[in-house]
Amino acid sequence: MINMKDIKADAYSLGLINTRDSIDKLIKVAEEKNQTYTELISAVLTGELKYRVNRAKEKRIKEAGFPYIKKLEDFDVSFQYSITEKQLKQLAELKWIEQMYNLIFLGPPGVGKSHLSIALAYKAAQEGYKVSFTTMSNLVQILRTQEISRRSKTKINRIYKSSLVVIDEVGYLPIERTDANLFFQLISDLHEQASIIITSNKGFEEWTEFLGDAALATAILDRLTYRCDMISLEGKSYRLEHRSSFLGKN
Ligand code: ADP
Ligand code: MG
Repeated sequence: MINMKDIKADAYSLGLINTRDSIDKLIKVAEEKNQTYTELISAVLTGELKYRVNRAKEKRIKEAGFPYIKKLEDFDVSFQYSITEKQLKQLAELKWIEQMYNLIFLGPPGVGKSHLSIALAYKAAQEGYKVSFTTMSNLVQILRTQEISRRSKTKINRIYKSSLVVIDEVGYLPIERTDANLFFQLISDLHEQASIIITSNKGFEEWTEFLGDAALATAILDRLTYRCDMISLEGKSYRLEHRSSFLGKN
C-alpha cells in the first residue's frame, strides 16, 4: 500500500521540496478538476520548476550583497533631469551587460548614483545575471584580506564569477598605494569579462589624487572607459530636497 508519507519522503530524498510540500494540494486539485494523469504529472513538474527558479532568484539577490533594495520604477526622472526616460529604459533592458559595457555614474551626494546602480543590478539579478555589489572601502578591505579571511575569499570569488560588479563610492577616501595596485589588478581581470558599474563623486581628473599615482589612474580609467557610458548626474540632492525632520517646523 502506497502512503503519502512515503511519497513525501521519496520526494524529499530526490530534492523535490516543492513536490513534498504541495503534493496533497496537487492531488486534491486533480481530483476536483478531474485532471488526467498527464495533467497531474505536468502540474507536479511545473510546480517544482517554478519553485526552483524562484529560489535561485532569491539566492542571487541575497548573495549580491545589496545594502538595501531600490527599484527603477521609483526613480523620478523629472527630478534627475541628467538622465532621460529613454536612456533609463535602454539601461533597464540590460543589453549593455550582455555586451559587457561599463557604466560610470558621476556626481555630488544625493543625486541618485547609488539608487540607479542598485536598481539596475537588482533587475539584473532578478533576470538571471550573477551580480555583486560592494562599496570601494569594502572592496579594499576584501582585496586586502582575501588570503586570510574566508569571508573575503568567498566575496572575491563571487565578484570574479559575476556578470555585473557594482563598486559604489569610488574616490570618497584616498587609498594606499598597495590597495590601488590591488584595485587595478581587479579591474584588469574584470575588463571584458564582466560589466562594471562605478559610482563616484570625483571627476576623472581627481582620480590620480585619491589613487596616489597618475600612471595607475590612467591605466584604470583606460580599462573602465573602453566600452562605457558615463552619466553625470547633476542638480540638487534628492535627500536635501525631500528631507523631513522629526520635530517639524515651529
Ligand atoms: P547618491 O548615491 O548619489 O549619493 P542616492 O542614490 O543614495 O544618492 O540617493 C539618495 C536618496 O534619494 C535615496 O534614498 C534615493 O532613493 C533618493 N533619490 C535620489 N534621486 C532620486 C530620484 N531621481 N528619484 C527618486 N529618488 C531619488
Ligand atoms: Mg551613494
